[in-house]
Amino acid sequence: MLDINADRLLADLYDLRKIGAFKTGVHRPTLSPDDVLSRHWLVERLTAFGHDAEIDGIANVIGRAPGKGPHILAGSHIETQNEAGWLDGALGVIYALEAARAVAESGAYGEHGVDVIAFADEEGHFADMPGSQSWVGTLSEETIDRAVDRSHGTPLREALAKAGLHGRPRRRMERDRYLCFLEAHIEQGGWLEANDLTIGVVTSIVGSWQYRILIKGQQNHAGTTMMKMRRDAGVAATRLLQAIETEFPKIAAELTVWTAGRITLDPGAPAIVPGGAEILFQFRDADSAVLDRLHAKLEELVKAEDATGPCDVGLEVVSITHPALMDGSLRAAFTEAAERICPDRHKLMPSGAGHDARTLAPHIPSGMLFVPSINGVSHHWSENTSDADIVAGARVFAGAVGDLLAAARG
Ligand SMILES: [Zn+2]
Repeated sequence: MLDINADRLLADLYDLRKIGAFKTGVHRPTLSPDDVLSRHWLVERLTAFGHDAEIDGIANVIGRAPGKGPHILAGSHIETQNEAGWLDGALGVIYALEAARAVAESGAYGEHGVDVIAFADEEGHFADMPGSQSWVGTLSEETIDRAVDRSHGTPLREALAKAGLHGRPRRRMERDRYLCFLEAHIEQGGWLEANDLTIGVVTSIVGSWQYRILIKGQQNHAGTTMMKMRRDAGVAATRLLQAIETEFPKIAAELTVWTAGRITLDPGAPAIVPGGAEILFQFRDADSAVLDRLHAKLEELVKAEDATGPCDVGLEVVSITHPALMDGSLRAAFTEAAERICPDRHKLMPSGAGHDARTLAPHIPSGMLFVPSINGVSHHWSENTSDADIVAGARVFAGAVGDLLAAARG
């Protein structure tokens, strides 16, 4: 059974944490000087044990194993949200690095090894997962031309040039080179901790449907407009949201979530009856049938409010991502390895957050593993996972890698 060097794993994670350190977390937005430094740091780590490593034209770091393969592709992302956690992304990259090293040192897997990848901008500073999109061939040059950093407006082209990556080729996945893609990640929620578990084996990554609900009423004077004469868009908005809160639980699955993340009233003044309202609304689930059901219900509730209320209510779909199913045999490999290392402390679960594995899943069998997040905190500098859970997760990850490579060797 393939095992890892726990001290070396933790030393690398703590070392990487120093690059862009912010309080107990990290500030390493995509293509910031610290992000670029961390990518060069990873290239050095990879070449130190014989991988052929480079940063490509979209800032993906790729470390290729020697041997003719087929290999396992493993990794995650290395940049962070602004002033965010030290493990979001980094954990999966360092698990892949350590598994690749352990395979190389063991000498037991012949021509098979682990290619390590750190995708660029999974956190979406510039675009929707451009690193993994580029890798699978779905990122156009026009998308890169248009992409700007959401915090300070720097064009992606300019940021790539500043990082010294202008003119470098973007590497595409050579499908025949790989058996599968594996990604480990912190859970970013509190489900594992609440259930006293060490490992979550991901069944699928949720689909996320986003909407804009537009309500048109009549703007008027808040002192002189009689209540029965009003067409108050704010009242219609709250009535609709209340209907959603009543009806969605009846058709939702156990882990379905929905959010009205932004509600704006127009003009939004204390002495004016709002003439317009806009609600940015989304829901997520891992099951397409549930998503379809929620969509139909939302349409029905919007129509009902439009028909009965004094305001016009309309619904626009902003974006739809479909759930991505993780591969069954990879789920089994993670589950078997987890049962050896932490018996009865692992469970299957969906991922409520998006990950690069969602981009890869339509192109290559993909598998994901979660470790607990303390208090369920994520996208904040206080995000953390215990060393014991970090090490257990790495052992399960490497255990599955070893089993899959041994099976490929036959
Ligand atoms: Zn992440």
